[in-house]
Amino acid sequence: MEDEDTGTGNVRVVCRFRPLNEKEKAISMQVCVNFSPDNKTVLVRTSEGGEPTKFNFDYVFTPLATQRQVYEIAAKPTVEAIIQGFNGTIFAYGQTSSGKTFSMTGPDLYDEELMGIIPRMVSTVFENIVNADEHLEFQVKVAYCEIYMEKIKDLLDPSKTNLKVHEDKARGVYIADLTEKYVGSMEEVYDLMAFGTSNREVGYTHMNAGSSRSHSLFCLTLNMTNKKDLSSKTGKLYLVDLAGSEKVGKTGAEGKRLEEAKNINKSLTSLGQVITALTDGKSTHVPYRDSKLTRVLQDSLGGNSKTALIITCSPSPYNEAETISTLRFGIRAK
Ligand code: ADP
Ligand code: MG
Repeated sequence: MEDEDTGTGNVRVVCRFRPLNEKEKAISMQVCVNFSPDNKTVLVRTSEGGEPTKFNFDYVFTPLATQRQVYEIAAKPTVEAIIQGFNGTIFAYGQTSSGKTFSMTGPDLYDEELMGIIPRMVSTVFENIVNADEHLEFQVKVAYCEIYMEKIKDLLDPSKTNLKVHEDKARGVYIADLTEKYVGSMEEVYDLMAFGTSNREVGYTHMNAGSSRSHSLFCLTLNMTNKKDLSSKTGKLYLVDLAGSEKVGKTGAEGKRLEEAKNINKSLTSLGQVITALTDGKSTHVPYRDSKLTRVLQDSLGGNSKTALIITCSPSPYNEAETISTLRFGIRAK
């Protein structure tokens, strides 16, 4: 982090704890975490006893945090940078059923309280367009894909199952042949999100029947042209709902599921290494090419890009080992 206190650096790392779910409550009503009043620190106690482990973040959201607070604090600075013509990426990282999709998409796109980061972002973008100076002209387009077993599938055209990553001077790094749809309203975006989500690979593990074993990438591109001097700028934002970060053993994976898990571990490890290389201030090589995920995001991670990493966790002692390993990933990324 360039500036740990105010979060003005190019990488912001926050964590969010969801409330206990019914299954966890049935085991114990206890939680294994304590939060500092300044929302910067979480203490995790383990069942082994001893001193709790302390983790510092740019912001820590307790189970009481609202979707609006998460958006305003964790995502909005990145969205505002896009409107200025920067690129950015917002990630949700955590074990299956820790709240990644709840945070990124939300359980109900049409509910003002429950809508997640993506619909709020779209709403901020359209609001800015409506309120902008008359001499500015805007184009908004969206794309939606998933990376599953190191293959890129176009969720807006599921016949495209193995798209390639290209790079050239004009466009930088991009997914060749990926469907991009121009959109003019929230409703159009919602329809595309619903259509894309229905085309996702869905895996079944013991942890969460509907859990996804793939990374989903929702991309919004905003182009602004100044009609007076014909100058133009483009900002691109990736919203990434990562595959579950849990260790293989706990989910009882074998065969194809084990192969999936290895691919997931590889791309999450590589993501961690890229973010670490970007933030440690001493790496000269950033290993973008080690996974499809980091390769696709190359132009939206590092440089002038704004990155937000949202670490999602369960507060239950039942998940304490995963919670600690998830929080460590976030700390290494700072
Ligand atoms: P993931 O995408 O990480 O696998 P989900 O976002 O699907 O996990 O969350 C798992 C379950 O927990 C869902 O039923 C979701 O609605 C619920 N949940 C997650 N985060 C919260 C939260 N902050 N408040 C209330 N419910 C939540
Ligand atoms: Mg999910």
